[in-house]
Amino acid sequence: MMDCIFCKIAAGEIPSDIVYQDEDLLVFRDLNPQAPVHLLLIPKAHIPSANQLTTENSDVIAKIFERIPALAEELGFDKAGYRIVNNCGEDGGQTVSHLHFHLLAGRSLQWPPG
Ligand code: 5GP
Ligand code: ZN
Repeated sequence: MMDCIFCKIAAGEIPSDIVYQDEDLLVFRDLNPQAPVHLLLIPKAHIPSANQLTTENSDVIAKIFERIPALAEELGFDKAGYRIVNNCGEDGGQTVSHLHFHLLAGRSLQWPPG
């Protein structure tokens, strides 16, 4: 995916503030944070959105969610809590067409979102 900004970040072609990575997933800080901690968790493989998840490509979703408790403990927000968000498609507010989960923490988050 030559023109996908998150593929370029996953490939190291665009710099990012990386918090964790392994062969399947990358966690980095959002450029425009909406909370004191705002991480983006992405599969390294290009999946456009949650709408394209299948039995063939969904293993990475478990890997992403299995990583979250460790991240929360390492960064110190496991006890206070946090929010995991996926925006899908236009009405969902998705602006980058590479599947990602927002992990927000460090302040009391309002519900429902706008
Ligand atoms: P979406 O609106 O698609 O759910 O979220 C996309 C997120 O990616 C936004 O929160 C935006 O701030 C973030 N973002 C967009 N471009 C970049 C970038 O080049 N680097 C980083 N670190 N975050 C980005
Ligand atoms: Zn991509």
